[in-house]
Amino acid sequence: MKKILNFINGAYCEPFSQDWLDNYNPSKGEVYSKIAYSSSEDVEKAYQAAKDAFPSWSNTTIEERSMILLKIASLIEENLDALAEAETLDNGKPLSLAKAVDIPRASSNFRFFGHAITQFASEAHESVGLNTMNFTIRQPIGVVGCISPWNLPLYLFTWKIAPALAAGNTVVAKPSEVTPMTAYLLGEICNQAGLPKGVLNIVHGTGPSAGQAIVSHPDIKAISFTGGTKTGEHIARTAAPMFKKLSLELGGKNPNLIFADCNYEKMLSVTVRSSFANQGQICLCGSRIFVEKSIYEKFKTDFVAKVKELKVGNPFEADTNIGALVSKPHLEKVKSYIDLAKEEGGKILFGGNQVTVEGSENGYYLEPTIIEILDYQCRVNQEEIFGPVVTIMPFETEEEVLKMANSVKYGLSATLWTSNLDRTMRVSKQLEAGIVWVNTWLNRDLRTPFGGIKSSGVGREGGFEALKFFTEAKNVCIKYD
Ligand code: NDP
Repeated sequence: MKKILNFINGAYCEPFSQDWLDNYNPSKGEVYSKIAYSSSEDVEKAYQAAKDAFPSWSNTTIEERSMILLKIASLIEENLDALAEAETLDNGKPLSLAKAVDIPRASSNFRFFGHAITQFASEAHESVGLNTMNFTIRQPIGVVGCISPWNLPLYLFTWKIAPALAAGNTVVAKPSEVTPMTAYLLGEICNQAGLPKGVLNIVHGTGPSAGQAIVSHPDIKAISFTGGTKTGEHIARTAAPMFKKLSLELGGKNPNLIFADCNYEKMLSVTVRSSFANQGQICLCGSRIFVEKSIYEKFKTDFVAKVKELKVGNPFEADTNIGALVSKPHLEKVKSYIDLAKEEGGKILFGGNQVTVEGSENGYYLEPTIIEILDYQCRVNQEEIFGPVVTIMPFETEEEVLKMANSVKYGLSATLWTSNLDRTMRVSKQLEAGIVWVNTWLNRDLRTPFGGIKSSGVGREGGFEALKFFTEAKNVCIKYD
């Protein structure tokens, strides 16, 4: 059976423990490969390789670093089909989505930061009258840790690695043990692109073992983490006494506010996508839908009709809209929230059932599920489910919907549908979220700051924000006569 090996110092290697984890194909519910179960010994080996590579990589010219990142971007593009198939096999997402979104975005991440680093400049402040000139140097931190989740595996893995490398750091990275395959394949691509050995090291295994070893390593000075809020809390507790720099991109429970004056047809089709894309397993999905009362009944009918048309099935088939959930435990978790919704008085307007797909009877399939709720404070409307489940309820006033939208502990993103400019400004300013989309969803310009507030995270990624995170600012003050 295929083994997913660690990638350390430019070479694939087995874990010290010689222990292996099962890697599942969620569309079939079958083990199809083995993952290195790494421990602190493997992380130490990766750290040493990264440490040795740092002096040279951090002094490589910007042009050369940029060229290597652009080459990685091109190689990802050239291998799009193979990488997309690997992603679908590992994650269960529709192949069409992996081809259109995940892998192109992984390539864009390297291309974007390959260009961004050539434009990354620092400030100078002349203190006129004091005869001093201050200038800021932004220096790479050293060895940094990047830890990513399973929902957008290569997309989010590269979103961290690319700026870390562009800024001149060397990296010890860990993808989710649930979806390690494309990160594994990236090692070979980096070698082909001429990335010097030791600059990127990829360690596989569980969060509590390999992940924890990265976070608690005293000489890995910065951690960029994307994942659940509980894990983020744990990482913050571990890292804080060592004063590590932390970027935490955490969970969400994002509201979708629909006003009667919106472009209805556009809103309807985008709302189907923002609810169920990637089986609802995107931190930015709009999982709480609030609809202005005057169009609520119409929306309910039309939304259910559109969602009924979505095909749940084998992710490799071209007409599949909803593939498999990522794992059996995750499927069970999502199903338990559907049961909870019923206990809480929610009405299932559509879905709610596991689906048996012919030829893939053991796969983890679930119908897209729409739950009408009565109380915005019920648990199903407050806790992150991270599956193909949305709640809907009506509202009457802006004040009321803002109160409900802001009632959760999360603050990642929000979507607003209206054609009223005054309302756009008023509501956007009051929504407690790091990102507000108006009349669109998941529209990303990589130069913009990305991140959440409240329990959705600390810090911003994207554009120069990411390059700032992965560097330390040093002010040099020169007195002249
Ligand atoms: P987890 O928090 O379970 O895992 C994320 C990563 O952290 C995985 O690589 C995991 O390893 C690792 N990990 C787990 N425990 C530790 C630990 N103690 N120390 C170090 N690393 C650890 O999240 P999921 O993978 O389940 O991802 C889903 C979550 O991610 C959702 O809450 C979602 O909202 C959030 N997310 C946030 C995004 C954002 O930008 N804000 C974007 C995408 C997702 P392993 O899997 O091997 O256990």
